[in-house]
Amino acid sequence: YAAKQTGEPVRRWTPALDERAGEFVRLGAEIRTALDLGQFRVVYQPIVELPAGRVAAVEALVRWEHPVRGLVSPAAFIPVAERNGLIVELGEWILRTACHRLAAWRSDLGPAAPDRISVNVSARQLARPHFAATVAAALADSGLPASCLAVEVTETAVFEGGQAVVALHELRALGVRIALDDFGTGHSSLGLLQTVPVDILKVDKSFVDNVTEAGRPTVIADALYQVSAGLGLVAVAEGVETAEQAEALHRLGYRYLQGYHFGRPVAEPDFTPATVVVLA
Ligand code: C2E
Ligand code: MG
Ligand code: MG
Ligand code: MG
Repeated sequence: YAAKQTGEPVRRWTPALDERAGEFVRLGAEIRTALDLGQFRVVYQPIVELPAGRVAAVEALVRWEHPVRGLVSPAAFIPVAERNGLIVELGEWILRTACHRLAAWRSDLGPAAPDRISVNVSARQLARPHFAATVAAALADSGLPASCLAVEVTETAVFEGGQAVVALHELRALGVRIALDDFGTGHSSLGLLQTVPVDILKVDKSFVDNVTEAGRPTVIADALYQVSAGLGLVAVAEGVETAEQAEALHRLGYRYLQGYHFGRPVAEPDFTPATVVVLA
């Protein structure tokens, strides 16, 4: 009954599920080893500013180079790390790596460096006391100004309020930007904008996929842009894969776009402006 309430399908406990639980524990232990052996990498995906196509920001995304499994997707191991608590150590390593990376680009590239780096932060990290102090230490050690960092949090991570929202206020006070990730797909999207400090709305790919056609996703992408503009927030459209989608989003008012059309996440993005034909 409890499972039904949360919308989870009710399943009987079977040997297959036992095996999956075992796999979960194994993967958890391997994450510990991977941290010790340095098997994680951070890659960076451009967030492009229209109309010129300058790389205004990058999003840091973690990768696991597993010696046997190959490149493991964060979708496979982040939930495990969240459950066993290793996300705290892994997340701090990602944060520090990202801050040092942008600090290095700033000193190597000067004005061609992106203005900001965006780092995904999970609910479990945000809910820890002193999370903002961890961020402040990462900024101080790297020499990166707080205004050059954004943290990406999901609606689900903050909708219950509590320490997570306290942490966002503390981060804001440091000068760090707050982005709501996958916006429009979680809990209480619009309500959160009244209660949570936010600077950036990352409009979910699900609204971008069909933005070239008249239909519900386009109406929602339009409405979300209007809400962000009205509230003085920056809207970023996620998962832009084609020039046609980029054009449609530009017509709706979007100035910041991210997606395979502009560049995949890589170790060393190309920051030369207008290497990509932004609009057809
Ligand atoms: P996200 O934060 O929403 O990141 C965007 C995801 O969409 C990334 O997948 C990115 O590679 C992918 N993507 C970007 N453009 C396109 C596109 O045009 N088409 C398609 N199909 N996909 C696109 P990735 O790197 O596999 O990460 C998946 C999710 O894992 C992230 O979603 C985020 O929730 C989580 N994640 C990744 N790195 C971290 C991290 O360092 N810390 C935490 N806590 N979570 C992370
Ligand atoms: Mg993100
Ligand atoms: Mg996202
Ligand atoms: Mg997304």
